[in-house]
Amino acid sequence: MHDERPVPETDVLVIGGGPAGTTAAALLAREGFAVTLLEKARFPRYHIGESLLPSLLPLLDLLGARQSIEDRGYVRKQGAYYDWGGQQWHLTFDGIGPDAPYSFQVVRADFDHALLDHARAQGVRVHEETAVRTVDFHDGRARSAAWTSPDGHEGSTSFRHLVDASGRAGLLTARHFRTRRFHDAFRNVATWTYWQGAEPAPGAPEGAIRLHSLPDHGWFWAIPLHDGTLSVGLVTDKHSFARSRHELGSTEALYADRLARTPALARLLADAVRTAGLRVESDYSYTAERFCGPGWFAAGDAACFLDPLLSTGVHLAMYSGLLAAASIAATLHDDATETEATAFYQGAYRHAYERLLVLVGAFYDIHQGRDAHFRRAQRLSHRDQKPLRLHESFLNIVTGVEDLHDTRGDALTHLFTALREPLPGHSRAGLGGHGASRMTPWPTTPAQSVGGLRLTLRPRLGLHRPDH
Ligand code: FAD
Repeated sequence: MHDERPVPETDVLVIGGGPAGTTAAALLAREGFAVTLLEKARFPRYHIGESLLPSLLPLLDLLGARQSIEDRGYVRKQGAYYDWGGQQWHLTFDGIGPDAPYSFQVVRADFDHALLDHARAQGVRVHEETAVRTVDFHDGRARSAAWTSPDGHEGSTSFRHLVDASGRAGLLTARHFRTRRFHDAFRNVATWTYWQGAEPAPGAPEGAIRLHSLPDHGWFWAIPLHDGTLSVGLVTDKHSFARSRHELGSTEALYADRLARTPALARLLADAVRTAGLRVESDYSYTAERFCGPGWFAAGDAACFLDPLLSTGVHLAMYSGLLAAASIAATLHDDATETEATAFYQGAYRHAYERLLVLVGAFYDIHQGRDAHFRRAQRLSHRDQKPLRLHESFLNIVTGVEDLHDTRGDALTHLFTALREPLPGHSRAGLGGHGASRMTPWPTTPAQSVGGLRLTLRPRLGLHRPDH
């Protein structure tokens, strides 16, 4: 379907069919705009990033894709278990509220394919195996994209707005503008594989992700998937990865050595069988200088990437897809000027990213105990009414729900908080500096919403001024 060549003109062109691209495309098509999505791969395609946050449920509801994802039989993720810095503790999601009491551990090839099919069903013209080569600008504004179709034909499509959701390829930010900056503290390498027949984890909530810190460098994830496999990945900084691989002779030996040093996890895998080879990927965290400009928005990993420690990638991808769709809809409906909409997008997405960046950064200091993370999260929380229990702000932020709070009202409001002062004992330079050092104070009341604008879902998707 729609695999004939892309049309020469469209309202919105989306590059990339991952969660960021399909979220933005489907929401804009549901608003009645002409949307074309170009994806260089043929789906299903492999992707890492299997453990999703509970914010997924309200986002799927908004997309109208909840039932089709529920039907796929993924493992329901009821919480997270931490064996971290000598402490063992867990979080369960059932206390968050009725909108997001759980999430899923997904096989990404299948999940992303389902969202791409859903976008098609909403009216998006999807073209797979169609790679965008360049984006062309006239008078500083993004105007058209040049692509190559599966039959080798080269053409171009002009648009009113572009969403670059090309993931880590970062067509605009990394390749065109070259403004991607890496966070030095998070130059990590991930090595992972899949195991069949692992023992169920004692003490963890049902379907939970387990995170195990290593005594010196690095940590493991263990994610149960509905095909009966356990995804087990090691994340370690690039220097210790290179050094240890050299000393031990191979990546296989390094993975086995680190597993043996994590007895709580090794025990679960004692009788399990490996079902796949080792995959290795650098997962350096980065941010682009700008997330949007005249005629374009970068969503998901195309704008910024955060270390996978808190499993935030798909949340940020879909959340920014929503923010980009609302910003574009507001501009096309003349509810906001493009300058206002891009300021809103840049501010809202950057803030969500940076707040998580601060929490992840602190987690890497494994000697800080659980309660230190909880207290930090309280300071980062935007809610005027502070949660009653210590862990609640942490829970709200690491489940993505803080970004989507107020989902039951008419407006899905984004009234962000201020990070008004540096966190005690936490140097911003220690985070690698770039994005975090420019963190701006955030508004907490409607009158101070992002650039005077808030996100709305009804009567239509867009931005509005609370005071009007
Ligand atoms: P992607 O999902 O990467 O999609 C981008 C798409 O764009 C791709 O399909 C690609 O083929 C297409 N594309 C690229 N270039 C072009 C082009 N020129 N023309 C057309 N199409 C193009 N996240 C989680 O939520 N949970 C986790 O547990 C988790 N674990 C992770 C573990 C590791 C080791 C790593 C590295 C990441 C992990 N992530 C996790 C992060 C997660 O994988 C990403 O954040 C998420 O996939 C971003 O979605 P996206 O839509 O921005 O990009």
